[in-house]
Amino acid sequence: MRIAIAGFSDETCTFCTEPTGIERFEPATQRGQAILDANRGIPTYINGYMRVLEATEGAEIVPLVYASKTPGGFQSWLVPECFDKYANEIADRLRAAGKLDGVLLSLHGAMAVSGVPKPEAELVRRARAAVGNIPIMVTLDLHANEDHELTDAADAVFILKTYPHVDSQEIGEIAARCMVETVRGFFRPVQATRKPPIISASIYQASEYPPMKLVYDRCREWERKPGVYCVSVAPGYAYADVPDVGMFVVAVTNGDRELAEAAAQDVADLAWTLREQFAAPLPKPKEGVAQVLDLVARGEKPVVIADGADRIGDSTHVLKELLAQGARNWAIPGIADPAAAKRLETNSKVGDKVTISVGGWYNALSGQPVEITGTIEYIGRPSYVLVGPMRKGARVQDGFVARLNLGDNRHVVVADRMRGANDSSGLTSVGVDIGTLDIIVLKDRVHHRAFWDSVAKVDFRMDAPGIGLADISLLQYENIPAGIYPLGPQWRK
Ligand SMILES: [Zn+2]
Repeated sequence: MRIAIAGFSDETCTFCTEPTGIERFEPATQRGQAILDANRGIPTYINGYMRVLEATEGAEIVPLVYASKTPGGFQSWLVPECFDKYANEIADRLRAAGKLDGVLLSLHGAMAVSGVPKPEAELVRRARAAVGNIPIMVTLDLHANEDHELTDAADAVFILKTYPHVDSQEIGEIAARCMVETVRGFFRPVQATRKPPIISASIYQASEYPPMKLVYDRCREWERKPGVYCVSVAPGYAYADVPDVGMFVVAVTNGDRELAEAAAQDVADLAWTLREQFAAPLPKPKEGVAQVLDLVARGEKPVVIADGADRIGDSTHVLKELLAQGARNWAIPGIADPAAAKRLETNSKVGDKVTISVGGWYNALSGQPVEITGTIEYIGRPSYVLVGPMRKGARVQDGFVARLNLGDNRHVVVADRMRGANDSSGLTSVGVDIGTLDIIVLKDRVHHRAFWDSVAKVDFRMDAPGIGLADISLLQYENIPAGIYPLGPQWRK
């Protein structure tokens, strides 16, 4: 049994400005054995494929190419040449791979390509043209914008069940197990799909909290019924202005069309009844920071502020309010500002007291630059190992960062690019003692909760301006379906 493995993964924020070319993918792209080496022991989709196939007698893994972007940057639509390069390389390598029995594709589902409206479906069609009638199965992130075109092209589609994403390896295993059983002739995948017309900001999509928890609980109920193999729901990725934006349901059964249709319909119906929960207003920075200080004063701390709108890392709305409202004992693990970082790298060392203007440079949504004065307590390019449940054990190599202590245990890390702290390592690596903090400001929506929910008393979601904002009615869409909830004219108050 020879199973090819390939991938081409991107979550494209089309509200960013710079087009994405091959140069952003090629340095991070792996080919052949390097794909397996890079994933072994790390809980990824590919490692999930490997675990099942390596445990399957007579199975041979044929690793082809895995294309993904280098971290950081503000890239928007992929240029067509970039999509063609990797989609065609996958197809060409499939053709050259000799006799294959199946293909596992690790995609993301929110790639946006100029001139290619549904890139993942197009990629699978090209793979299909290369291999003919053997099973092609796909794994996706749940921030996927897909519709039936993908399931028409692929034999089975499996989507993450958790946000924070802690089940990438498990979904890889589910797909690979389905592949093995299908190749052996014990399984005949049948898919049913639904497309509930709901678009939602990522910050509303946490899998352990309503509304998505209710949707996923229903999926798990269906999966307990005999014959139902997997029921997936992608709530979708709202920051891509594409025609198949929004929620997508896929039920995979063993040969039972009626059962698949019933499961998909039921889950889609439930999601529709919950739609208002995907658009509940969140506090803006001024009132939000005031509420956070109130929580801290009452001992409800530490508080994590999820500044989910900031996908560039340069937003200053929350920083400005923390300073204006006199907050103490807080840390922001990253204000992305390449120019400020360069100045600090060139002119400063640990112990220097500096005044510098940071952030607010990307666009008007980022807010104004904010001047801060503090003592540099860390400067360098930290390298550290992730300790939280997401990608535990993976090594992170940051770019240049400098941590300023503004006094009163207030810390701002100025970084040359977007820098998160989805677990404590992002802060401890630059010398912050997280045990002393009342407030941690994370430029993130949900992923951080995999770690920080075990530390923070409160996860406080804030709706600052930014291209990843919670109130998506402020974004200028051109390509999405006209009536989609909550943006269609019939839903506007
Ligand atoms: Zn995701």
